[in-house]
Amino acid sequence: MKNDVIKNITNKTLGILGGGQLGKMIAIEASRLGIKTCIFDPNKNAPAFQNANIIINSDYTNKKALGQFVKCSDKITYEFENIPLESLNFLEKNSQIFPGIKALKYSQDRLLEKEFISNLGISVAPFYQIKNYVDVKGALEKLKGTAILKTRKFGYDGKGQHTIKKYSIPNIKNNIEKNKYIIEGIIKFKKEISVIVIIKKDGSVICYEPSENKHINGILRETVFPAKISIKTKNKAKAIAVKLARSLNIIGIIAIEMFVDKSNEIIVNEVAPRPHNSGHWTMDACNVSQFEALVRVIFDMPIPNIEYYHNCKMINILGENYNVLEKSLYKKNHKVYIYGKDEIKEDRKLGHINILS
Ligand code: ADP
Ligand code: MG
Repeated sequence: MKNDVIKNITNKTLGILGGGQLGKMIAIEASRLGIKTCIFDPNKNAPAFQNANIIINSDYTNKKALGQFVKCSDKITYEFENIPLESLNFLEKNSQIFPGIKALKYSQDRLLEKEFISNLGISVAPFYQIKNYVDVKGALEKLKGTAILKTRKFGYDGKGQHTIKKYSIPNIKNNIEKNKYIIEGIIKFKKEISVIVIIKKDGSVICYEPSENKHINGILRETVFPAKISIKTKNKAKAIAVKLARSLNIIGIIAIEMFVDKSNEIIVNEVAPRPHNSGHWTMDACNVSQFEALVRVIFDMPIPNIEYYHNCKMINILGENYNVLEKSLYKKNHKVYIYGKDEIKEDRKLGHINILS
């Protein structure tokens, strides 16, 4: 046992880009381990500001604010993908960013992401770059008229996606002409799962067991741990996840969303180099949560083998079912998380519940 682990975290500050619920839960775990946080977010009501030691309320492109941020932070992480690469490159000159920038470059653009993954020999949905309206028609011919048109950038929770049936192209001709889209074939999946991988600085890997996800209109509603798939399929999913994580030079955390088809083949949907909504079950079902694992990697703390104590169903609470939170407060096996957002809105994630069994 080394005695310098605790010494090394004394008076240390973690800089977090993004002050949403993920930033908040990273900050809470950092704080539990004696690490301060400096949180950067353009929204003055960012929920994670409630848990920050230092707040920087500015645009992600403001060099002065980024300079301040780097000064306050011993190490840097981010809670979402859409931070301008230019800002990250600026920060990286003076600090270390976890889980790294390479993965962000790919996860920011669905076309680069799909190309990267398929070049590794990993299956993805059939996809085509859309540079103009004619390309949509050409791709639809190949996909027999049924597909999903997705914005290459800035999409989340199903935003920026249009499902096309029977060749019915949505009325977005102007955007299509700007090379902003890709088109994907629709996978007839049996299940959606995700795998969270942690890679430490020494290259060693921790891979959480897969969980199973249910989306409605592109928004994650429920995650069930463990995923109800065979051990063989689990192992296949974990091997793919680790291969991807390594290829993206992750140091820290990455979540990989996948489809399992009826022949139990794995098709990767997308990657998120940050803690992920489908990993919230780790907060209560096992010994080290995804947030804690990230903080431990960043600050050179050991991570013991993951032990699973409970099965868990994680339910996302969106604006329209906010009252479910209150009911859960009375239940002994429900762990309730309320993000503290400034406004209750439809489709907005306001909290989650981990139901343990
Ligand atoms: P987001 O970045 O918004 O999470 P995703 O690409 O993960 O975007 O899409 C959201 C959800 O939409 C997926 O979890 C899945 O349920 C469905 N979906 C997306 N792409 C496909 C596809 N090619 N085939 C079948 N379902 C899909
Ligand atoms: Mg997704």
